[in-house]
Amino acid sequence: MPALSDHVAIVTGASSGIGEATAKHLATEGATVVLAARREGRLNDLKNAIEADGGTALVVPTDVTDRDAVKALAQRTVDEYGRIDVLVNNAGVMPLTYLHNMQTDDWYSTVDINLYGVLHAIEAVLPTMIEQERGHVVNVSSTAGRKVYPGGAVYSATKYGVRALSEGMRQELGPRFGIRVTCIEPGAVATELTDTISDEELKKDSAKMFSKLTPLEAERIAESIVYAVTAPASATVAEILVMPTDQM
Ligand code: NDP
Repeated sequence: MPALSDHVAIVTGASSGIGEATAKHLATEGATVVLAARREGRLNDLKNAIEADGGTALVVPTDVTDRDAVKALAQRTVDEYGRIDVLVNNAGVMPLTYLHNMQTDDWYSTVDINLYGVLHAIEAVLPTMIEQERGHVVNVSSTAGRKVYPGGAVYSATKYGVRALSEGMRQELGPRFGIRVTCIEPGAVATELTDTISDEELKKDSAKMFSKLTPLEAERIAESIVYAVTAPASATVAEILVMPTDQM
């Protein structure tokens, strides 16, 4: 029997990149996946692909900055399937920008999506997981949650925040409620993430930096998430740092 049969997993940011790959991998392991992001068409395409492979998926278009919408996502999941076993808190943006260029809308949208969005999803699933006395929250941070680079001050602030939040959650929720928490910290991955960068000065500099490494495929991160989620219930994989071999 597949490792995640009877599991219900919500994946935020499932419309592309790491979230899309993770939803596919979880479905292959037998999980029913609830696909959340803003681009409904992309989510429907993914649902069709998963179902063509024999899996089960539900599309719930969701903007993670909308607290009520994220609560409705969790409620819809419970209404349909009666439980929430896994949350992959993955939705995120990376509009890197030098502070002196004062692209302050980018600062605030980064915090809104990468930090408040993550909190909204935790708030939405936690009552169900506490009641179940079981569950697994996978928060996607970054190597930028361990190191700060010029242009990445605000992005790193959110990803350091996600790491701190994950460790605090693990300490409070594991021993008392049997809820596992994993923080995933990818290095460079080939996705649409850099499309959100609009700071022209930074774009030129980061193109030089990225030309020196070979970004990972999103599947490598999905595999790490599956590893954490399929570990025996007595083992919490607290952190996974996965980087391209040629990344400094
Ligand atoms: P993508 O841009 O491919 O995916 C980002 C996903 O987040 C999309 O599905 C997007 O969907 C979703 N998203 C963005 N804003 C919102 C929102 N307001 N509400 C709901 N969903 C939203 O990038 P990645 O797959 O690379 O990024 C996934 C995560 O991985 C992010 O947290 C990122 O910080 C992290 N990460 C990525 C790395 C990389 O090199 N790629 C490295 C380290 C960490 P939609 O636009 O349809 O809403």
